[in-house]
Amino acid sequence: MIEKRMNEIIDILNKASYEYYTLDNPSITDQEYDRYMQELIKIEEQYPELKRNDSPTVRVGGEIIDEFLKVTHEVPMLSLSNVFNEADIISFDERIRKEISNPQYVCELKIDGLSVSLTYKDGKLVRGATRGDGVIGEDITHNVRTIKNVPLTLNERIDIEVRGEIYMSKATFESINQERATNNQELLANPRNAAAGSIRQLDSKIAASRNLETFIYHLPNAEDFEIHSHQEALEFMQKLGFTVNPNVKLVNSLDELLGYINYWTNNRDNLPYEIDGIVIKLNDIKSQQKVGFTAKYPKWATAYKFPAVEVLTKLKDIIFTVGRTGQVTPNAVLEPVRLAGSVVSRATLHNEAYVKEKDIRIGDIVSVRKAGDVIPRVEASLKERRTGSEKEFVMTTICPICASALVKNKDDEASYYCVNPECDAKRIESLIHFASRNAMNIEGFGDEIIEDFYNLGFIHNVDDFYRLDNKKEMLMELEGFGEKSISNLLESVEKSKLNSLEKLLFALGIRYVGSKTAKILASTFYNIDALMAASYEELISIKDIGEVIAKSVYEYFKSDDNVSLINKLKNLGLNMEFLGKKIEENSFFSGKTFVLTGSLENITRNEAKETIEQLGGKTTDSVTGKTDVIIVGANPGSKYDKALALGIAIWTENDFLEKVGNN
Ligand code: NAD
Repeated sequence: MIEKRMNEIIDILNKASYEYYTLDNPSITDQEYDRYMQELIKIEEQYPELKRNDSPTVRVGGEIIDEFLKVTHEVPMLSLSNVFNEADIISFDERIRKEISNPQYVCELKIDGLSVSLTYKDGKLVRGATRGDGVIGEDITHNVRTIKNVPLTLNERIDIEVRGEIYMSKATFESINQERATNNQELLANPRNAAAGSIRQLDSKIAASRNLETFIYHLPNAEDFEIHSHQEALEFMQKLGFTVNPNVKLVNSLDELLGYINYWTNNRDNLPYEIDGIVIKLNDIKSQQKVGFTAKYPKWATAYKFPAVEVLTKLKDIIFTVGRTGQVTPNAVLEPVRLAGSVVSRATLHNEAYVKEKDIRIGDIVSVRKAGDVIPRVEASLKERRTGSEKEFVMTTICPICASALVKNKDDEASYYCVNPECDAKRIESLIHFASRNAMNIEGFGDEIIEDFYNLGFIHNVDDFYRLDNKKEMLMELEGFGEKSISNLLESVEKSKLNSLEKLLFALGIRYVGSKTAKILASTFYNIDALMAASYEELISIKDIGEVIAKSVYEYFKSDDNVSLINKLKNLGLNMEFLGKKIEENSFFSGKTFVLTGSLENITRNEAKETIEQLGGKTTDSVTGKTDVIIVGANPGSKYDKALALGIAIWTENDFLEKVGNN
């Protein structure tokens, strides 16, 4: 059984490696590959007697294509061991500390490209080679010569081999793909495959046109140059003329190391190239030698891989859920999979049109992506992995909860709605929304408690939250609740009464009123009475409020049911006023767009911006036809010239301060 699984995984990994390293055209994601690899490592640890000699856990890289000249690496080019979480990093550090006291590490970005070895004789580039299987690589000198930041001649006439990564920047990748799209050519999958594909071409014109770059990060024979630490090696290579990544950091403690990882986990998107993790290397070369190597990787270094933002998994079923607006959404039921640090078993499929357009079927292998904090969504299905047993998607025509017939909405043709006002699902969702963090933030009321309280009849409408204190005794009898937990819940309810108006406006779930619009409305009208009395014309005249929102808000407050709800909430003691800073309505500044340029003397740029916003204006960074005024400090830049050309009003700092004083 176990042996069968092991062989199965080895087959998958071998096929994937071939596609990835030799064809530069992977058919599974890196995360899927890593998952299989981890599974294989575990099996081999548990059953060492089953381990095969040709196991991918001991092999580095891929096969060598015949068309390229073969190159033997005198010092093998190894891979890196992988770690995936903090606990693994801590045990890596502990293992090192068993052998080395007070280790220093160099932390580096793990550039997502392919490794290269560059050999120089007498200071001249004589050979560029891929890693290949670690011992034998391919000669890619003709292509390496086309890479602009690979020096053809070094600053010293020495014999040396250095290693690093060839990569393609995000910008180059995008512009190449744009061009390919225009020419109806197949798009390149990602910058890594694009770089690998470009470098393994026989015709160097192709590589030259691909704008590849390098970062050099390893000196195999450091001691030949009297170099004793990795950091010194990096400095030395930089002096020779190589490009070394500027974000390298020497760390002295585990805390610092974790801080570096944390920083780049959050800031990797700002880099002009892709990284897939962080490499941690022991700095001292004698210590590196002491810790040693396995056949596949150095034991003195490891690569922390960032959690995946996109993974492949099986779509087991499609179910329907009802949101608070009544919208019925198809949702994917997935084979559970780790994604960006959590296990995911559901993902959104948006609506019928989305599923049909992407031809997503039940039983498909799908890619699932999580961007930021939003709910994961199914991005695509892998048609080539279909077995024929997949089932086509059919949109439901009835509400999955109350079974009433669904209707299509006029404004939004792609979506279906349950219009039954008494539909339990809609009610529960609107209660959940009301209590949620950006809305009334009634702490302690998670989805399940709200659903239970609804089903038990304690909360039916949002105003019922504020009547719960009358039911305290009954609540305390519920299983799982004690006096303390009920008091806490009631306290959060009390606290939420003090919220500023925008939270209530958002919580009411007025169609199209998100938290940003709620803030605009609250800060414009200050209290709910003024908002309720506003005409459609008044609403539409507010900047950033368009017809659809104005109509929705106006109609919401025209409904007797809604007015009665607001009155009930008022009587229950909820604050109905805007408590934030008030924005001036009738100042000279309101509704106007300002641009600041040059340095101001009496006020900082941020203060100026805040003042403008406070007075109802807006600031932008560039001068356009929509700019009303440009405020010019000392040494203004090109924005000033542009404003002159466009005939835009120009104020000095003093003009500005005077206007502020007059308001
Ligand atoms: P690796 O990517 O896990 O790490 C080693 C490599 O990191 C080095 O060879 C080097 O090229 C690179 N690297 C980048 N920056 C570095 C730095 N600062 N210092 C040192 N090295 C740096 O190992 P690998 O053997 O190149 O590739 C294995 C990985 O490739 C797998 O974990 C998987 O994610 C991916 N893979 C995917 C498929 C697939 O089908 N999708 C198939 C095979 C491999």
